[in-house]
Amino acid sequence: MRAWVEVNTDNLIYNIKKIQNEMKDRKVIAVVKADSYGMGAVKLSQELLKCGIDFFAVATLDEAIELRENGIKEKILILGGIFDEELELAEKYDIHIALTSIRQLKFIHEHALKIKCHIKIETGMGRVGFNKNEIEEVKKYIKENNIKNIIGVYTHLSVSDEFGENNKFYTEKQIEKFNKFDGIDTIEYRHVLNSGGIVNYKGFDKGNYVRAGIIQYGVCSGKIADGYKPVFTFKSRVLFIKTLAEDSDISYGRTATLKKGTVLATISVGYADGFRREISNKGCVKIHNVDCPVRGKVCMDMFMVEIPNEIKDKISVGDEVILYGEDIDKQSAIMNVSIYELFTGIGKRVKRVYVNNKDK
Ligand SMILES: *Cc1c(COP(=O)(O)O)cnc(C)c1O
Repeated sequence: MRAWVEVNTDNLIYNIKKIQNEMKDRKVIAVVKADSYGMGAVKLSQELLKCGIDFFAVATLDEAIELRENGIKEKILILGGIFDEELELAEKYDIHIALTSIRQLKFIHEHALKIKCHIKIETGMGRVGFNKNEIEEVKKYIKENNIKNIIGVYTHLSVSDEFGENNKFYTEKQIEKFNKFDGIDTIEYRHVLNSGGIVNYKGFDKGNYVRAGIIQYGVCSGKIADGYKPVFTFKSRVLFIKTLAEDSDISYGRTATLKKGTVLATISVGYADGFRREISNKGCVKIHNVDCPVRGKVCMDMFMVEIPNEIKDKISVGDEVILYGEDIDKQSAIMNVSIYELFTGIGKRVKRVYVNNKDK
């Protein structure tokens, strides 16, 4: 293999159980959108069934259908909006949808669709959802037309994973607005807490579910959260090693010049695999547990590192390279790229390998 992501399923399960314990009477919706943050939605959903997860969330209809077609029978909610022409298929697959406009509510009613809907209310994210005036209109329409398929309500927090009094105040306001929502009798599912909410705001909400996204992988607020375990490690291998015969410019754009005698290794992964270009000339990767600085720009399929003296005699072609894993907080800070983007940006050519602690 030239590049792969190791997903530690024991640590995933550890994290889920920790969330379940801490959330007490609230159950967990596992957010497995974007192919489970790049780690494989089908495989991870199957793992999550083992710890009693009975509700999944995705972003698109295709993602929902992929889970259904791979045997996931549990509840699935599409968090993003959905277009009118997709509704029929969503209903056929028994997928829950986010209801975000009166126009779509009317469309659903007029076409006699029985699709299960969660009302998305706007409390401060400024993305999709009903504002407070629209909510009254929705309630009126639902009553007048005796609509029964509105079974959930939710909202999304925009700064629950950020620190400071201002963000705390804002998030508490959002949660309060959510808590006050009532007046639709058919609602069974109420959910507001995302990963930041789970870590920082437990007990404030009147939900009966929470939506766990990146915290499943132990991450919140740009680092591995206290008491959680890392799940993700991005790895590659040494493809080529050389000692420079003269002072040399390295890679596209000649952004690094190295002295004669420097030992340089070429690693078999590039930005097309999701190994971000922002690390060029800034960060390090680990070979034999030693930091090796990235020299020159990362290419589409490869990049170069300088080999420090301490491993010059040890390194050989084929050796494993750790790109980012437990140190993802530092790596993401060096690159100024969020961990969400690092996870979801892993390319198609990269294998996903599932390991547990016994394999280690
Ligand atoms: C993506 C998403 C989540 C999960 O977010 P995390 O920060 O990863 O927990 C939860 N709810 C909604 C509506 C989302 O779009």
